[in-house]
Amino acid sequence: KFIAEHKLNEVFPGAESELGIVVQGGLYNGLLLALKTLGLADAFGAGRVPILALNCVYPLVPEEITQFCAGKKAVLVLEEGQPEFIEQEIATILRRADVPGKLHGKDCMHMAGDYNVEALVRGLSKFLGQHAQHLDLSGGTAWLQKVSQTKIKAGELLPALPLRPPGFCVGCPERPVFSAMKLVAQDIGRPHVSMDVGCHCFGSFEPFSQGNTLLGYGMSLASAAGVSPMSSKRPVAIMGDGGFWHNGLLSGVASNLLNKGDGVLIVMKNGYASATGTQELLSSPPEDARMVAVGNSAADADRTIEDTLTGLGVKWLRTVNNYKVGEVSKVYKEAMQTDYRGLKVIIAEGECQLERQRRLKPEVAQRLSKGERHVRVKYGVDEDTCTGDHSCIRLSGCPTLTVKDNPDPLRVDPVATVIDGCVGCGLCGENSHAAVLCPSFYRAEVVQNPTLLDRWVAKL
Ligand code: SF4
Ligand code: SF4
Repeated sequence: KFIAEHKLNEVFPGAESELGIVVQGGLYNGLLLALKTLGLADAFGAGRVPILALNCVYPLVPEEITQFCAGKKAVLVLEEGQPEFIEQEIATILRRADVPGKLHGKDCMHMAGDYNVEALVRGLSKFLGQHAQHLDLSGGTAWLQKVSQTKIKAGELLPALPLRPPGFCVGCPERPVFSAMKLVAQDIGRPHVSMDVGCHCFGSFEPFSQGNTLLGYGMSLASAAGVSPMSSKRPVAIMGDGGFWHNGLLSGVASNLLNKGDGVLIVMKNGYASATGTQELLSSPPEDARMVAVGNSAADADRTIEDTLTGLGVKWLRTVNNYKVGEVSKVYKEAMQTDYRGLKVIIAEGECQLERQRRLKPEVAQRLSKGERHVRVKYGVDEDTCTGDHSCIRLSGCPTLTVKDNPDPLRVDPVATVIDGCVGCGLCGENSHAAVLCPSFYRAEVVQNPTLLDRWVAKL
C-alpha cells in the first residue's frame, strides 16, 4: 500500500502501447541508453516502448503489474542476477489475474552477470525482433557489429596478456596490515575475520587469505558480532574509513559498545573511499598537508576518526603506522590477547598509494623536464644471497616483487627480484625484518639527473 500510495515505482508511457518493459530501477539509465542506441528513445528519456521502473523490487504490487501489462502483446522483464525472482513473481501475478500476453525475461537476456548497454541492446533486439517487426532496429545492429569488431581488434592487439587477479596496488598501505596479521596468526592461530566492501577485501585472496566473510560497506563489525558468541578467539573486523563513515560508526561501533562486544576492529585509515577512485571523506587529510607530503603519507594529519571513537566511548584505541610491520604485529597481538573486555580498535594509518602517486608523478615529471636532480627509492633483492624459498613473496603479495631465473647455473630455484614498478614503500624490508627472513633485501636510491658530485661519489 505504501509503495503504491507514494508512487515509488514509475511508469513511462510510449507509443508502442502493445509492448512493455519492466525494469529494476537501477537498470533504468542503462535501458534508456540501449533504447537510444536502437533509435527508440531520445537523450531526454522519452522512449517508444512503455516502461515500468521498479524502484522498489520487493514486494511487488500486483495491481501495478496487472495494470501495466493489461492489453499488451508482450512484456520483457529486465532483471540482473539469478534466479529470476521478479520474472517468476510477475508470471504468477499475471496468471492469477488472467492477464494474457507473452512474458519474456531470461530467454532474451543472459542469466547471470552485468546487464551493460551492449547486453541490453542484444536482449532488446531479440525481444523486439519477435514482437515489433515494424520497428527499424538497423542502427542497433550496426552498433553491435562495431562493438564486436572492436573486441576482435583488441583481442588481436592484446593476445599475450596474462590473467590479472585483483589485488592491492603496488605500495598499498593496507598490504602490510595483512602481512602483520599473517605473521601473528602463526603464534596465536587464525581468528574469524569479517570484512566489508573496500580495497581491504583483497586481503581475503592469496597470499593473505584473511577474510572469512564479507558483508556490505561498513558492516564488518556488525557481522563479527554475530559470530562472536560461537568463536573461541576474538573475532576481528576490518573496515575501510569510507565504510566507517558510511555505516560502520553506527551499525558497528555504537552497537558494539551498547552490546558490550569484545572484538577487535581494524579501521584502514587511508584517507579516502579509495576503491572507487579516491573520493574524499570527513577524515581525508587536509589539502595543505597533502601538498607538503607529496609522495609520502599525509593520513596522520587528520584525527577525526580517533576523536569520534574516543568521544563515543571507545577506551582501547591505538593508531599504528601500517608500514611498520613489527609494530602493527605487536599491537594486533596485544589486542587479541589483552585482558581488557570491550571493543578494541586499531587505526591502521597510511594514505592510499594511488592518491600519493597522483601527486608525486606530475611533480617528478616537471622536475626531470627542468633537468633537476631527483632521488627515487627502490628496493631490490641480492640474487647471490636469495635462497629461492620465496617466503618474502608469500608475506607480501606486491606485484613488483616477483621471480626471475637463478643466475647461478648450479641452482635451479628461481630467485626473488623487484621489478621497476616498485614505489619504495619499504614493506619488503620490513617483512624480512619482522619475520626474520633472509638478508637479501636492500634499499637503493636511484638518482635521476645526477649532479657532478653524484657522479664523482658513484665513481669512488
Ligand atoms: S586504491 Fe589505495 S587503498 Fe586501494 S589498493 Fe590501491 S593503494 Fe590500496
Ligand atoms: S618496497 Fe617491496 S612491497 Fe613496496 S613497492 Fe617495492 S617491491 Fe613492492
